[in-house]
Amino acid sequence: MNYRHAFHAGNFADVVKHLILSRIIHYLKRKDAAFRVLDTHAGVGLYDLQGEQSERSGEWLHGIGRLFDTALPPAAQALAQPYLDAVRAQNPDGVLRFYPGSPLIARTLMRQQDRLFALELHPQDAAALRENFAGDIQVRVTELDGWAALGTHLPPREKRGVVLIDPPFELKGDFSRLVAGLEKAVTRFPGGIYALWYPIKDSAEVDSFVRDLKSTRIGKILRAEVTVRPPSTPARLYGTGMIVINPPFTLEDELKILLPPLADLLGDAGRGRVLLEWLAKG
Ligand code: SAM
Repeated sequence: MNYRHAFHAGNFADVVKHLILSRIIHYLKRKDAAFRVLDTHAGVGLYDLQGEQSERSGEWLHGIGRLFDTALPPAAQALAQPYLDAVRAQNPDGVLRFYPGSPLIARTLMRQQDRLFALELHPQDAAALRENFAGDIQVRVTELDGWAALGTHLPPREKRGVVLIDPPFELKGDFSRLVAGLEKAVTRFPGGIYALWYPIKDSAEVDSFVRDLKSTRIGKILRAEVTVRPPSTPARLYGTGMIVINPPFTLEDELKILLPPLADLLGDAGRGRVLLEWLAKG
């Protein structure tokens, strides 16, 4: 386990992923009934953008660094607001220094009745995550394999909620594990919303992942991608993707408003592009 999210925190992929997560949580809050967030690959929860790893990569400068002080068109800005509020909550003086990861964004947006279960396998990161939520009775942090949790932690007692699956993709098999893990999870918790992140580095790999998803029996699958530049050789990350199973009925229209200006902002020299399509709409 060499992957450390601190190098990538707040990059364009995090921004798109966390915006989509925030819209899903915003939707879940329409009803008073409690929901659960299960974050299977949670990271440490809070990142110092002036820390050594962030400084070395500088990736956040092309992500949250571009969005933090930029106004999107009004309708998109309104949709981005809950996410931006969660980032601002970590930077109360208005100067961007800290970036909240997915568990902290979820926690900031949750209400008193909602719960977060966050799993992290890296012992050091799990300890840091636990420390970040110390004393918070709405959050449970466990040092556990997130893939295993898809079997053991579902369905949640609340019977409603979102499962974020955000693996590091450092192992060759992560794309196929994603499909297998997802099928298992959806069988156990068919009414859940699932948000799966994937990197766009090699288009053949993504095509095969999409084919595999289409061949499952999962009924509702929305695919959202933002690419920030054309593919290149040698392959490097050029886009970010999210698969949302059982998306809120509002999500597709929201992403039609939100993603195009975001792609303009995050793309290299106007080369940002959006793909939004249903892989299954049953
Ligand atoms: N979800 C986080 C966010 O958005 O802020 C970022 C997560 S990062 C992409 C992936 C994380 O998964 C890393 O912190 C890594 O240590 C952890 N990890 C790797 N393999 C894991 C596994 N099998 N189960 C749980 N966590 C794992």
